[in-house]
Amino acid sequence: TNETVAELIARRMTTTPDFPKPGILFRDLTALMADGEGLRRVTDALTSAMPADVDAVVGVEARGFLFAAAAAVSRAIGVYPIRKQGKLPGPLLSETYDLEYGSATIELQPDSLAPGSRVYVLDDLLATGGTLVAAVRLLERAGYVVVGVGVAIELAELGGRTALGAHPVNALLTIS
Ligand code: AMP
Repeated sequence: TNETVAELIARRMTTTPDFPKPGILFRDLTALMADGEGLRRVTDALTSAMPADVDAVVGVEARGFLFAAAAAVSRAIGVYPIRKQGKLPGPLLSETYDLEYGSATIELQPDSLAPGSRVYVLDDLLATGGTLVAAVRLLERAGYVVVGVGVAIELAELGGRTALGAHPVNALLTIS
């Protein structure tokens, strides 16, 4: 078919009102990623937007892991996880950021990837950018060079792209 990856994502994503909290319109790609052709098309689109000289793909827990591992294999480079607090043994670096209600802490294990590595960060969805801004800050504190950020879906009105400043963002589908 001639369907673009943006059209494919728009057609196959699920939209659930009031999940996980009232007022949130939850966008999810579980069904698309469970389909072999869908997984391949999303992975190819994310991978082809990555610069050539990347050492590892970073995935943000939990849905970012799927995209990051697939893209890393496709490029024959490594995958490196940023995890929620309490999941990784130390030594760790951590970063706390504000959520709509309360805060969250994410962690990485700097001894597992050489300082100076060039990394590309993937997640399923960019909303306010709070998560990815914290991820970039953590990676830069650990001495990595963040060469870009990719997401399957961008919710443009929430300003995540602006929050990420000079870091280039590739989104496969932008929802305004
Ligand atoms: P943010 O930090 O505001 O950019 O939110 C991004 C993170 O929260 C991503 O890891 C998403 O998985 C999740 N998220 C935020 N808003 C939504 C939404 N409307 N639908 C699905 N996931 C969302």
